[in-house]
Order: sequence, then structure tokens, then C-alpha cells
Amino acid sequence: MRYSELFISTLKEDPAEAELISHKLMVRSGMIRKLATGIYSYLPVGLKVIKKVENIIREEMNAGGAQEVLLPVLSPAQLWQESGRWALYGEELMRLKDRHQRDFCLGPTHEEVITDLVRQQVRSYRQLPVNLYQIQTKFRDEIRPRFGLMRGREFIMKDGYSFDRDEKGVEVTYQKMYQAYSRIFQRCGLRFKAVEADTGTIGGNFSHEFMVLASSGEEEVVSCRQCSYAVNADKAECRPPQTEPPAFPYAREEAHTPGLKSVPDVAVFLNKPVTVILKTLIIQADNEIILVLLRGDHELHPEKLRKHLNCHEIALADEETVRRVTKAPVGFASPVGIDIHKVIADLTVETMGNFVCGANVEDYHLTDVNWGRDFHIDQFVDIRRVSTQDTCPLCGSGLEINRGIEVGHIFKLGTKYSKMLNATYLDESGQSQIIVMGCYGIGVGRTVAAAIEQNHDQNGIIWPQAIAPYQVLLLPLDVQDKNVLTLVENLYTDLKAAGVEVLLDDREERPGAKFKDADLLGIPLRVNIGARDLAKNQVEIKIRRSGEIFKLVPDDVKNKLMELLGNLS
Ligand code: ATP
Ligand code: MG
Repeated sequence: MRYSELFISTLKEDPAEAELISHKLMVRSGMIRKLATGIYSYLPVGLKVIKKVENIIREEMNAGGAQEVLLPVLSPAQLWQESGRWALYGEELMRLKDRHQRDFCLGPTHEEVITDLVRQQVRSYRQLPVNLYQIQTKFRDEIRPRFGLMRGREFIMKDGYSFDRDEKGVEVTYQKMYQAYSRIFQRCGLRFKAVEADTGTIGGNFSHEFMVLASSGEEEVVSCRQCSYAVNADKAECRPPQTEPPAFPYAREEAHTPGLKSVPDVAVFLNKPVTVILKTLIIQADNEIILVLLRGDHELHPEKLRKHLNCHEIALADEETVRRVTKAPVGFASPVGIDIHKVIADLTVETMGNFVCGANVEDYHLTDVNWGRDFHIDQFVDIRRVSTQDTCPLCGSGLEINRGIEVGHIFKLGTKYSKMLNATYLDESGQSQIIVMGCYGIGVGRTVAAAIEQNHDQNGIIWPQAIAPYQVLLLPLDVQDKNVLTLVENLYTDLKAAGVEVLLDDREERPGAKFKDADLLGIPLRVNIGARDLAKNQVEIKIRRSGEIFKLVPDDVKNKLMELLGNLS
């Protein structure tokens, strides 16, 4: 492709609303353009990358025994009413009516549609298993569309669904998909972790999120430094504490702590470790006020608490509520004598005794407090954030915590949809059985964005070779020079004939501007051809990732490029 003919315009400035580097670079390098919030057009360079990722997905899905289909985007409400999701899906579902006022939606995912297809087609155990996937545009009216292709309202997803005779069958299919996903993200050149996405982590786990590790990720991943334990932080379990509370409770006393509200300040002032301070949180859980207790050095994980309470929203109570229930300013709350009836403590609190906590009185704390004797706790629950001080619940080794971008999710669905939609088959003895399903999603655009998050520098993108829009950029510095032109045109023809994807920057631009665009676009190999160099019988190859430069005689350029392409990642 000749740059002068390519439909592309690069930008010097970052788009104002872009927060993530991938979003900035995709817009600046002319890959995508915004139409409306969370809705983007893919331009030629962007689409080329998208297609590369799609093809890797397609090859690995096919190799894993799945078959490609293409289902309608538009689906009738009736199917969603059958599964119950017409009511449950909420505002994320894009709904519309046809001319007869019949309800439809734009597919956010396709369990209903595919199950309907399979229930009509499959009669006998002989037709199972079957594993179908598609690569298609999905619609979700996200509350906060952002980060470019990372969280769009219209986005490309590979969604796959498997149908097996029984649990054993789906587990085999699941493993194949797990392997396929691992190969897909490896081939895309990503550093990722397959993270257990369900509780009950020991034994067979059949829900994994594939997380690309990047500091900008929306998710938090907790993983063991030694064994294979890796989970979403929402689900990371803390090891139950190993110590016992002290056998002898001391007499409770009051301590004057003027103006000291935070755990570290109180600890320093009283000359005690933070681990003997009790943190008292007054929490608003939907419409209820509850008391939450943690050890001083621990932090609440709101999502764990929310799940435990099975409520919609968790927040710290406002100042007015705190004053009302504690009769003191914020910072002195205490479980001792407070007017809140539901008290939940983290597991670690069970091992605490003779500790320090607030007094529900301004400028006072209590020391040598003991739960049971001084106040009541309803439940001890794992509600705290795992930290790097914790150890692996499986093997006891150290943990690390990283941020991650969820690019894929595989999930054993069981009979959730097949039961609702009555997708059955006849087994060997003519008995009707419910089909057992699995589902497997990958965000294609999000994968591309995640690849940029992991592969860039201050000048632009650094494409992993497998998903680069072009492999080689030919960059003539003097497009008027006859020798330069001849060499460039010959190289262009030769490389194309050898099956290499080449971009020839034939624009009459200053070298500086061309170099800038070259770095922004991130094509793995660049050939700089200047008149002065060429007069010395010399041409330069530059590797985008390492910055390494090779100076060669023109005759060797093609071979060197081919050799480098064979070795690059
Ligand atoms: P998230 O928690 O990020 O909203 P999800 O759990 O809703 O994701 P799934 O329903 O499992 O996502 O969809 C499968 C894949 O589709 C995700 O792993 C992700 O890569 C991608 N995806 C989901 N929502 C979006 C979106 N709004 N924009 C781009 N990609 C998305
Ligand atoms: Mg979502």
C-alpha cells in the first residue's frame, strides 16, 4: 500500500476525552474515529489490525473443534421473554420496535438466539457435542462507555457456545476452549493471566477470565508467586487467620486522643501496632445502616461485602448519619454502645483481643476492648481486600497483585438457558435430556486496545508482529531522487511478491514528519532510504521495538528483512 493512497490522517494532538494511551494512540494513528459516545468507525489501518486478531481467533477456534456461524444482530423480544432476560437485562439492552410495534433488541450476547437454533436442529445424542461461534458486532448501552474500543456501546465480539450431552462432555469442551484462548492471546503477543472468576476455587473451576496485565486495567488480579492460583480480586480469598485471641481480657479503659481520627495516628499516639487497632466503618447498604469491623491495617473490599449482603450498593454512611448513630464526629465510631444492630466483622477480627477502638465520644478511644464481652458481632465474614502481605490460600506462598484488562471470558453455563428454552435431546435409551452448555467470549476491539496498552512508548504504538497492520514500512527520505525511487520501488515490488505486507511512505513530506508518523503507526520494521546514504551504497533498517539499526548494502535489504521477520515477536 502506498501511503499517498491510504485513507488515513494522523493527529499530533491527543483527543480531549481520551484517558488511556491505547485510546489516544488509536485515534492519533488514524485507526478509529468516533461517531458518537462509545461508537466508532474502523478505518483501514484499524480494521486491518482487527481482522488480524479475528483471524487468529478464527484459526484457534476452528482448531479447537468449533464451527463458525453468523447469527442475526436483531432478535425478537419473545425469545428473551422465554429466558426471562427481557425483564432482567435492564437498560444495557438496546431495545427497539418494528413497524408493527413488535419489540426487538440488538444482541448484547447470543445465548437465547443460539439455543433457539440448536433446539430446533438437535434431536439425538448423535448430534452432540456441537460448538458454534461467531464474530459479530454487539450492542450494550453501557452506563459509562469509555476508553475508546475498550468499553464501547457497539463493539465486535467473538462469542461461542457449546452444547454437550452432560457435565463430563462440557468439561472436555471447556478445556479445549481454555487451550484455544491461551493460544489466541499468546499469538497476539500479549502478557496475560487466566484468572478464576468464580468462588470455590479449589477443585474444578469452570469460569475463567483472561486478563491482559496492564496498569490501566479496570480489574485487579491476585495471583500466587509460586503456584497457579490466580483470581479476580473480587473473589480473592484470604487465608483464615492462624492465631487465637488472647486468653486473658484486660479491663477496658478510656484514652484521651485529642484530634486523632485515623488508625495510624491513634496507633502512634498510643504506641501500639496498627494490628491492635479495630477499624469501625458505618456502612450504608441499600437502605440499611450496618457496622463493619476490620483490623486496623486491613481494607474493606466493598464488592465482597456487597455480595455477602446480597444488596445493590455499598457506601460509607454520610457524616450526618455517622453523627446520628455515634453521637460523635466522624473518626471516633465504636462498636461499644452504638445504636446499630447489624454488626459484621472480617474473619481476622475473630483473633483480636485487648484492642483499641473508638469511643463514640469526640477525642476519646477505648483500649483493651474485647468482642463478646464489650459488644456483639453477628457474623465473621471474609470481606477484606487481599494484600501482598497475605499468602496464597492454596500453597501459602507470597501473592502479587496486578491490574488487568478482561479480554476474554469462558464459562460453564450448565443448563441455565437450555432448561428455560427447553433445548433437549434423546439419549441412547430414548430418554429426553437437557443439553449442557458453555459460553466463550472475546472482545476483539478490547484485545487490540489491550495490545497497545502493553506495547507502546512515548512516540507511539509498537505492534506485536502477528497483529501489525503492515510488517514493513519503506521510508524514502528523498522522493525526488531517482536512485532512491528506483530502489524503493524495486523493494516494494519484491517484498509484496514475497507476501510481506508493506507500506510505502511515498509522501513528499519532511523526513522528520515521516519519522514521527512511522513511530506513531508502530510498524515492526522500517527501512530508511536517503540519497546521501545511498550514494555511499548504504540503506538503514530500524526495528521499532528495540530501536536497533542495521546498515546494509541495498542488495542485502530484502534478505535481512525476511530474516528479521522470521525472528521478531
Ligand atoms: P465487563 O465486565 O468488562 O463489562 P462483561 O463481563 O460484561 O465485561 P462478557 O459479557 O463476558 O463481558 O463479554 C465477553 C467479552 O466481551 C469481554 O471479556 C470483553 O472482552 C468484551 N466486552 C464486554 N463488554 C464490552 C464493551 N462494552 N466494549 C468492548 N468489549 C466488551
Ligand atoms: Mg459488562
